[in-house]
Amino acid sequence: MSLTLIELAYLGAAALFILSLHWMSDPKTARRGVYAGIAGMIAAVLATWARPDVSAHTDVQRHLWVIIPIALAIWPGIWLSLVPLTAVPQRTALSHAFGGLAAGLVGVAKYFHWLHDEPDMLTPLRMGAIVLEVLLGFLTFTGSLIAAGKLQEVKWVPQRPWTYRGQNIVNICAFGVAVILGTALMFSAKAWWSPWALGVIVVLALNFGWMLVIPIGGADMPTVIAILNAYAGLAAVAMGFVLGNKLLITAGALDGASGLILSIIMCKAMNRSFANVLFGAFGQVQQAKTGAEQKEYKPETTESAAQILEQAASVIIVPGYGMAVAQAQHKVRELYDQLRKRNISVKFAIHPVAGRMPGHMNVLLAECEIPYTDLVEMEEINADMPQCDVCLVLGANDVVNPAARSDKTSPIYGMPIIDADKAKTVFAVKRSKNPGFAGIDNDLYFLDKTWMLFGDAKAVVGELVKHLSGGSGMH
Ligand code: NDP
Repeated sequence: MSLTLIELAYLGAAALFILSLHWMSDPKTARRGVYAGIAGMIAAVLATWARPDVSAHTDVQRHLWVIIPIALAIWPGIWLSLVPLTAVPQRTALSHAFGGLAAGLVGVAKYFHWLHDEPDMLTPLRMGAIVLEVLLGFLTFTGSLIAAGKLQEVKWVPQRPWTYRGQNIVNICAFGVAVILGTALMFSAKAWWSPWALGVIVVLALNFGWMLVIPIGGADMPTVIAILNAYAGLAAVAMGFVLGNKLLITAGALDGASGLILSIIMCKAMNRSFANVLFGAFGQVQQAKTGAEQKEYKPETTESAAQILEQAASVIIVPGYGMAVAQAQHKVRELYDQLRKRNISVKFAIHPVAGRMPGHMNVLLAECEIPYTDLVEMEEINADMPQCDVCLVLGANDVVNPAARSDKTSPIYGMPIIDADKAKTVFAVKRSKNPGFAGIDNDLYFLDKTWMLFGDAKAVVGELVKHLSGGSGMH
């Protein structure tokens, strides 16, 4: 393939990546965005394979170096794509870990390749790009592994923030040593000690990654993952400079910018300081307050709940992590149909961090084809809450916890919430008296207007549907 065609394919791939991100920002076009991303990536891989330095050779061995890794990598890729939606944050962290590792290894390989075969290529600028790539790549690798471990609740990874005195100073010193060595390397890339200095940078980066993430509590992990996404993108940009590949620079910049924007949006939604996320050692989740046991829940039967729902003029459903765990979305669709049949207004209140990943609720509700117009963002739906007859809190907890508005000592104080407590009647579906992700009590459950429907979300909604459709309940 001619170089012009390859460049055109790269340009097409870059355009597809940009369109992909644009389309993915709206549920209506998100699927198209995914296909555009896949098409862009296939074009990028094929164009790279067609480059003269790879395919102009008749040597079969060179092609095998491309075919074998692709054939091997497909399997973990397929396995990762099959994880349940609730495990997507840790899956994403693993993808960043692999991306970071790849960037770091390419940087080291390129350094030794140039050192032995083309030492003149090791200009200060290129060496600077290699150092940046290695630093960000290996840092992203270990940082993302720890983030994935925390989210997966792996036994040997502490879930609580893990801190010690002077942690930030140690981190800054380690980073400072890496920067000094990196600067020295830029100007003495061919010195006898340079390979050793690069080795020290690799070790420091590997350490720096896990040290940066280990002090951060599980509740803040999603924001950290978005930041690691940005780091992986920047590593890819540096790799693009090292390899002279414009597509890598474009794709890496897109990745870096979108990761940064997402982390800022999430910080706002969770009321976290962005500076704290960047510099680690934050998110000391406070101990859950005790006292839930003394307060009285008011359990209700699904039969009575169905009768009250039938009388309502407007119902707002607040879905949360529990709906995802129970995979209750299809039953929710049936409930929606039953209520709509009775001309009851039904809206879904979508909190930006409900569930375990941004857009989690939108994805689940889109899967069962709830009209997008009935998915209403938090700011908008809160205005309707006081007029709402019944608010059905379905496996949501932290995102409807009024403590975020009023309790200055609460770890979620300041996080914008859905004002479920302002509805006329509240039904809350959950399995037990356990707290939500932040590990704190929720006074919403103890209000006079709140009734608990204890049970698995899918089973409870299934029972509501049966009562509404005239079938027999199972409780
Ligand atoms: P929470 O984790 O606060 O609460 C989930 C609730 O669902 C719990 O009360 C739980 O109670 C209940 N539940 C669990 N399984 C079931 C089930 N099978 N059937 C019925 N109920 C069930 O979820 P929210 O969505 O309200 O809030 C999300 C939290 O996660 C926030 O704190 C957010 O900051 C954090 N977070 C958000 C991420 C994101 O990007 N969206 C990523 C990671 C964390 P019980 O066990 O008693 O059933």
